[in-house]
Amino acid sequence: MLWHAAGAITLVALPSYWPWIAGALAGNHLLVSAAVLWPRGRWLGPNLTRLPVAAAARSEICLTFDDGPDPQVTPQVLDLLDRYQAKASFFCIGAKAAAFPETVREIARRGHSVENHSYGHPLTFAFYGLSRLRREVESAQAVIAGITGRTPQYFRAPAGFRSPLLDPVLAGCNVRYVSWTRRGYDAVRTDPLRVLQRLVHGLIAGDVLVLHDGARARTNTGVPIVLAVLPALLDQLVASGLKSVSLPTACNDATA
Ligand SMILES: [Zn+2]
Repeated sequence: MLWHAAGAITLVALPSYWPWIAGALAGNHLLVSAAVLWPRGRWLGPNLTRLPVAAAARSEICLTFDDGPDPQVTPQVLDLLDRYQAKASFFCIGAKAAAFPETVREIARRGHSVENHSYGHPLTFAFYGLSRLRREVESAQAVIAGITGRTPQYFRAPAGFRSPLLDPVLAGCNVRYVSWTRRGYDAVRTDPLRVLQRLVHGLIAGDVLVLHDGARARTNTGVPIVLAVLPALLDQLVASGLKSVSLPTACNDATA
């Protein structure tokens, strides 16, 4: 806004400079677009892409699950995590949480944290104005807190695309932005081996991994990709001496 105003004023005052001004404005738009489309970037505000050093020193990693809850898939994910005594953070969509509150309660009851992945998961989220952004974040906070009794402390934008306006909204809700260290594209790929390879190749303590318990991707035989990948991934964690914990545990949040 200020940038545009400065451009307009300069244009009026010094018309012969217009090619330079137009170039500067276009460059500015390119930079903002690049920042929006770079999920792990920090230009638009703080962004947790790895666990704190202390968590890495404890050999911790964090499995995160997006786009749920799903009444069919999420309970099976919870059973697998229990089998390996692994904890995770679930970035739930507010509207789905409202539709399946029992599944959300079960996530929390098993010792995992339920975090905020917006209310409606709009794909145009990064282009929302301030009041719509606030509504997306705050209504999911309220729905999840109403179900679990704990207000989410972390937020992840739909598809990881965030707007320059998001950071003040999150600060107002006392919520931290989280992206990831590595993702396997389990929401779109149908070959579980390739998904697994992307997740475990170079995996080290402190990494934050993204999977999806609410995605529709299936193997050729109709198994949700996340369920096809998770046992081998959890085996790999055991073999590497790594332990999955929830974000509040890894970050030592007082209310964890
Ligand atoms: Zn998502």
